Amino acid sequence: MSNDTAARSGFAALGLHADLLRSVEALGFTRPTPVQAEAIPLALNDRDVLASAQTGSGKTAAFLLPIMQRLMGRPRGGTRALILTPTRELAAQIVEHLAELAPGTGIRGAAIYGGVGMNPQVKAFRSGVDILVATPGRLLDHFQYDYAKLPHLEVLVLDEADRMLDMGFLPDVRRILRHLPKGERQTLFFSATMPPPIVKLSQELLRSPARVEVARKQTTPSGITQAFWPVRADRKTALLIELLRQDEIGNVIVFCRTKHRSNRLAEKLEKAGIGVARIHGNRSQKQRTEALAGFKDGRYRVLVATDIVARGIDVEALDHVVNFDVPAAPDDYIHRVGRTARAEETGEAYTLVSPEEENDARGIERKVGRSIERRQLEGFDYNARAEEPLEVPLKQRIDAIRARKREERSRAAAKAERRGPGGNGASGGNGNGGGNNRGGASRGSRRGSGNGRSSGRGSASGR
Ligand code: AMP
Repeated sequence: MSNDTAARSGFAALGLHADLLRSVEALGFTRPTPVQAEAIPLALNDRDVLASAQTGSGKTAAFLLPIMQRLMGRPRGGTRALILTPTRELAAQIVEHLAELAPGTGIRGAAIYGGVGMNPQVKAFRSGVDILVATPGRLLDHFQYDYAKLPHLEVLVLDEADRMLDMGFLPDVRRILRHLPKGERQTLFFSATMPPPIVKLSQELLRSPARVEVARKQTTPSGITQAFWPVRADRKTALLIELLRQDEIGNVIVFCRTKHRSNRLAEKLEKAGIGVARIHGNRSQKQRTEALAGFKDGRYRVLVATDIVARGIDVEALDHVVNFDVPAAPDDYIHRVGRTARAEETGEAYTLVSPEEENDARGIERKVGRSIERRQLEGFDYNARAEEPLEVPLKQRIDAIRARKREERSRAAAKAERRGPGGNGASGGNGNGGGNNRGGASRGSRRGSGNGRSSGRGSASGR
């Protein structure tokens, strides 16, 4: 039996339509993953499903395929499935996956998320796109309007419910549920973990659900080679550059602890002539999309990221994950390392470990249940002079800002003092002086209010 036939029979046994089997085959999926094998037949049988499955388990196709099959069988008109997901990246990815599975089915999907214009999304609602994939905040924005009523809704998916909880979206999710039409509905509920608020939400939402529990990977996938690279904190950048230069690393996502560090690291890599894009919470949606697209199509060799992409980003054929900083929580390590070796491919996960981070590194080894190989890069000068630190400590940065503000205030006060008495004194002397002073005072107050606004903006963007 050829691999293609095997793919067909593996998925065909789940009862999927020929068009969907063709797409699955075209994607090169040779057999259903465990969550797909369990959830697809249940969902096709119109059951509500409560699935514990992580990113990387194949859960997206596990809910998309049965939804698509359901929609193919009945007349079109109006949005019939809504998928709620915590992040813009996940929403975009799900729509992308949908497009890969959709050829031949005529099914259309659209993503609804913030940070981009409302109009194309309004059009998607109005045209009754079959499947909407939405993040909670932007969906609620649309729900204020009549065009977003979704009267034909038949299927609801909650994707990464625990992540929605982590991100504080649960109240929004409940608001969304109140907006949805009351009648019969199938609900598919996916969450990697089941903390009590998620269990409660699932109980409220699901009608006698079928449980799908795929053995939770408490450890990293076996296809991944993991290595720790012990190195002084101030030599990490140089070591990373050298690993890239010597082709120890191909294309790579590099995780940093903070936005500031990821920005600084990206600048240094750029200076070293390495194609790099950045993705973190302060980047606009457009910038994030561009960075990710550029990384996927090979324009950038390195994607420097903070935690936001640690879950959910699906970058195929990713060779390497590098933890530039050791994640303090072993679970974060496991999630990150899961970015590579998706669906049983192989990959490598490197972590740069400074002496100060050794304790956290040992915590990770305990969690994954084995020791992780320590590597040294031959020819690299581990003892070279310190580089300038990547990050000025927060306290030092705040102190510098405060000092600058103090100085500005005292300069402004001195100026006001010079003007104030001068204005009084000169008014008796000549009309011009008075005129100037009036002008000065009004300029001063304009400036004052301008400063007020700009400092308000400053603190907002600082958050
Ligand atoms: P997900 O957990 O849905 O984010 O999927 C993780 C990755 O596995 C994605 O790149 C999918 O395209 C891929 N994938 C999903 N199902 C299969 C399968 N049956 N065989 C191989 N790869 C798959």
